[in-house]
Amino acid sequence: MRNRSNNGRPEGSQTTPKAETNPARARNEYGESIQAEAKKRSRRSAKPAAVEGAEGAPGTAKTSAPKPRRQAPKRTTSEVGVQKSETLQEKPAPRAPRGRKRVDPPAAEAAASAEPKELQPPQKSRTGSPTRRAPRAANAPQAATQKSQDTRRRRAPKDTKPVQDGTVHHRGPVVRMVRNQEGHNEELIIQNNSDKDAVRVIPLGGLDEIGKNMTVIEYREEMIIVDCGLKFPEDEMLGIDIVIPDVTFLEDNLKRIKGFFITHGHEDHIGALPYILKKINVPVYATQLTLGLIEIKLREHGLFDKVRLHVVKPKDVINLSHMKVEFIKTNHSIPDACALAIHTPAGMLIHTGDFKIDLTPVDGDVIDLARFAELGTQGVLGLLAESTNAERPGYTQSERTIGRNFEKIFLGAKGRIIVATFSSNVHRLQQIAQAAVKMGRKCCFTGRSMENVVGVARELGYLSIEDRHIISVDDIKRFRDDQLCIMTTGSQGEPMSALTRMSMGEHRRIKIQPGDTVILSSHPIPGNEKSVSRTINYLYKLGAEVIYEAIEDVHVSGHACQEELKLIHALVKPKYFIPVHGEYRHQKVHSELAQTMGIAKENIIIPSNGDVIDLSQEKGIRTLGRVRSGQVLVDGSGVGDVGNVVLRDRKHLSEDGILTVVATIDSESGVLIAGPDIISRGFVYLKEAEGLLENARRMVQRLLIEAEGDRFKSVDFLKNNIKEELKNFLYQRTKRKPMILPVIMEI
Ligand SMILES: [Zn+2]
Ligand SMILES: [Zn+2]
Repeated sequence: MRNRSNNGRPEGSQTTPKAETNPARARNEYGESIQAEAKKRSRRSAKPAAVEGAEGAPGTAKTSAPKPRRQAPKRTTSEVGVQKSETLQEKPAPRAPRGRKRVDPPAAEAAASAEPKELQPPQKSRTGSPTRRAPRAANAPQAATQKSQDTRRRRAPKDTKPVQDGTVHHRGPVVRMVRNQEGHNEELIIQNNSDKDAVRVIPLGGLDEIGKNMTVIEYREEMIIVDCGLKFPEDEMLGIDIVIPDVTFLEDNLKRIKGFFITHGHEDHIGALPYILKKINVPVYATQLTLGLIEIKLREHGLFDKVRLHVVKPKDVINLSHMKVEFIKTNHSIPDACALAIHTPAGMLIHTGDFKIDLTPVDGDVIDLARFAELGTQGVLGLLAESTNAERPGYTQSERTIGRNFEKIFLGAKGRIIVATFSSNVHRLQQIAQAAVKMGRKCCFTGRSMENVVGVARELGYLSIEDRHIISVDDIKRFRDDQLCIMTTGSQGEPMSALTRMSMGEHRRIKIQPGDTVILSSHPIPGNEKSVSRTINYLYKLGAEVIYEAIEDVHVSGHACQEELKLIHALVKPKYFIPVHGEYRHQKVHSELAQTMGIAKENIIIPSNGDVIDLSQEKGIRTLGRVRSGQVLVDGSGVGDVGNVVLRDRKHLSEDGILTVVATIDSESGVLIAGPDIISRGFVYLKEAEGLLENARRMVQRLLIEAEGDRFKSVDFLKNNIKEELKNFLYQRTKRKPMILPVIMEI
């Protein structure tokens, strides 16, 4: 409880099940229906229907044929209402076993139906026929929502004059602090959206930060969540592995959430899913590769058979009670990225996801600009567009342009080639592999995420490299240096990654040697510059030739620059605009860009995480209040149990070390029996400080002996006394403040 309140959660909020990484335990906390669901599935001894669908497409890509497009049987709008589970089973192509050659690289690309295909919310049943109501299933853990019912009944204030910046982060419904007539602060409770003519946007992450993207769209009693990403910790978050969004608001509104709609498979969009699905087990909708990457995570967390995954394709529409969610093809530095059009009776929202406009993408699949234009003609109420590159003028280069550069570099390389890049940039890997094969080099993939992604991407047909061109890292000794191209993780200088270990000579199988050419095909994410630079220095010192962004064009961005953003604005012509995905300065520049495109200033809001933004044709775009948002720190298997106090302790320890005092006293008489002994770590160099510690020990001994006669002094008092005296003593002599831990044993 203590740690939770450190996280800003008020006491008494125990209704919510705590996140559990132990699957066995966690399952009990999900609530009955989840268990039932899981049982049902295991009885069927098959994967959930939708996931079968995900794998039901033409199987392993072993041919060097063009990337196949997974087309479900063409449907027309007359089939609206077909149950998803059925449609998926209708699919003609059964799952090809791993390793089988795909005979028919579908030439069906032209057959892509112009009509958006509509799907009902997928439903689960034993037989695959639509028997159960999906919303019921979506409501699995209900206990956590009871509180919101109670809090909603609270009294509304008499005076609604808002206090300056009076919004508060709070559990339960949207709350704003207002000052009543007596001048006291009171809570004004903003009811859930009941306005038929308004749709709400509530970003829970991704604003004024890079990472943990998550946005809630609310229309009446329905909510959907766009993306569920993680963020990498900042320097001062010692020992923290990842940071995920605080989803208290979602837990309080569990019944209303219809699903996660994921735009693409980058960590800042899917990384928090395995943690948050443990609390909010609602269906996940995403395209095939995105789901493939999500699956890897769910398996690692033992959640795979507990989550309902639904594969969608661009142009698919998911019909909810009020909202319809349409997936629109975009380009990005990962295949299968989509924007979302969210149709509501109050108007349409478009969320771009991360995108660029690549007119010559490696897979030939250009962003569906025509659909953006069509929707623009129909009238778009609000546009949420990413802002990552809003400061950069011009256009982002096509991914294809760097393929040629790789060939050029490969031609000049005499020894091994080692390329570090993001494993999720499948098209980059494809181009590197093509260059390698062309030069008669074998492809070797190393690093855990690289191996995972390459496996999934090849299996699903997004990456086509023939088996004979791939070797395992154990086999590299059997080939000459000029026959090797090693693709590895670590382009961001991540401490445990394969490239970093190579640069420090700690990789078990790959030792960097003179003659090696190492290419860093990436751009350091803000905050990683130092470690990338260190890696480059180490590689140079080991004698390698190092090629990186500053030297050659070996990287292009996956995000839209100004001209591309403008094009989307011009096509979509939204009434209101919300810049998302970026630091505040990116959002700000993007909002100015939108104004040059004719959107009135009052029709733009630059929100913060947690803001409740109301969009309505009549009433304009307004910030109504704020819901709780924030970050939850994940340290190993502990989710949210490391709060500010733990972090402060870690910082304290890292700066001045620790000093433990151990003594044993008689519990009756208080007489000192043994000790005191002083043990220190990270405080002073022991050999030189023996005198200091001996003096400290004598001081503590004196305190203990002085206290012997005084039975009224409790052990706690004694400990505090020792701590204080020792702190002053050590500070006077060393100007340091180590953490002091007195341990007094009574026997
Ligand atoms: Zn992103
Ligand atoms: Zn992305």
